[in-house]
Amino acid sequence: METQAAHVDPLSLPFHPIPGSSSPNAVVKLTLMNCGELTARWIQFRQRGTKEEMQEQETAVVFSWVIEKQLEGKVERWLWDAGLVSDVDRLGPSVAENTRTRFEVHVPPSAQLPELFTHLFPPPATLNTLTGLLISHAHLDHFGALPDFPTSLPVLFGPGTKAWAEGGLEYAYPIPEDFWEHPAWVGEVGEEGARGRGRGWEKLGSYEKAWDWFGDGGLWLAQAPGHCPGHMVALCRVSTSPDTYVLLGGDTCHSRYIYSPFPSPSARWPCACWAYPAEGPEAKPSHTMHEDLSLAYESIARLTRMDMEDNVMSVLAHETEVARELGIGIGQMKGGWEGWKELGWKRRKESGEPPSRKAL
Ligand SMILES: [Zn+2]
Repeated sequence: METQAAHVDPLSLPFHPIPGSSSPNAVVKLTLMNCGELTARWIQFRQRGTKEEMQEQETAVVFSWVIEKQLEGKVERWLWDAGLVSDVDRLGPSVAENTRTRFEVHVPPSAQLPELFTHLFPPPATLNTLTGLLISHAHLDHFGALPDFPTSLPVLFGPGTKAWAEGGLEYAYPIPEDFWEHPAWVGEVGEEGARGRGRGWEKLGSYEKAWDWFGDGGLWLAQAPGHCPGHMVALCRVSTSPDTYVLLGGDTCHSRYIYSPFPSPSARWPCACWAYPAEGPEAKPSHTMHEDLSLAYESIARLTRMDMEDNVMSVLAHETEVARELGIGIGQMKGGWEGWKELGWKRRKESGEPPSRKAL
């Protein structure tokens, strides 16, 4: 695995202005759900300065979102990611063992999807009010208890997911057998039956391939590979006059301090690179969270470039600081994203003191 790649300057990327809204209805409503936490048994998210520090634990939240859209008198409700199972034994012995080696999972059954969705306010949020699942990428902390969802629901991933998953198991993230049991899982955004109201892949902001899911710019699904093939992010317009957006960043990276602050790459932390304990104490660190680290740094720069826009707020799937800043405990959820700018939610991110990089 490549481990030598470095940050890309976000200002070196072409930027295609985000098209403005044509109607006040060209928005989606977002609810953020805290589906639990993962504690990594050693540093795997943000690189630390010393070998000792790399042996510390770090905890990350697991976020999913409800994306609601008013369309011609009805409401469509899509989940963006489906969290993690409460009991990792459900994933089969090899995946469970692999997961336990690396992580401690803290997902109370009430925080596991789909149950958590049914607590959405206002009720009723029964499963038959769900339209489908959009999954940022095919990792087990994002598709969760997929077999517990009604099989009638479409489950859509980004282009490249199927070829990757069919390519066989990989050491770090074997694809559990459950994953294949959902009969409608096969959708990849952009293919027949998974086009929403989009017309084709378009350039959007710092992304070269984005799909206009509702056809009105309210929800763009953009290709952001690197973490793994098929990885997507979602740009959601949450208000008009002025247009504001929340960028659901998935696992583009695993710490706020890797994509922020901007624009200077030198102020941002690198992705962690580690050796597994089983490789012995002298092993050279050669593993990262990303399948293709160069491509991951490119996607990180795209996220940074979007976050540089005043009217865009990015949130990673594991951005623990957001849960702390907005007071969203495990099993809780938070709406009101249409007001993030007025309420200063992004300013908290910008004013927070990033950890110093001097130790590196
Ligand atoms: Zn993840």
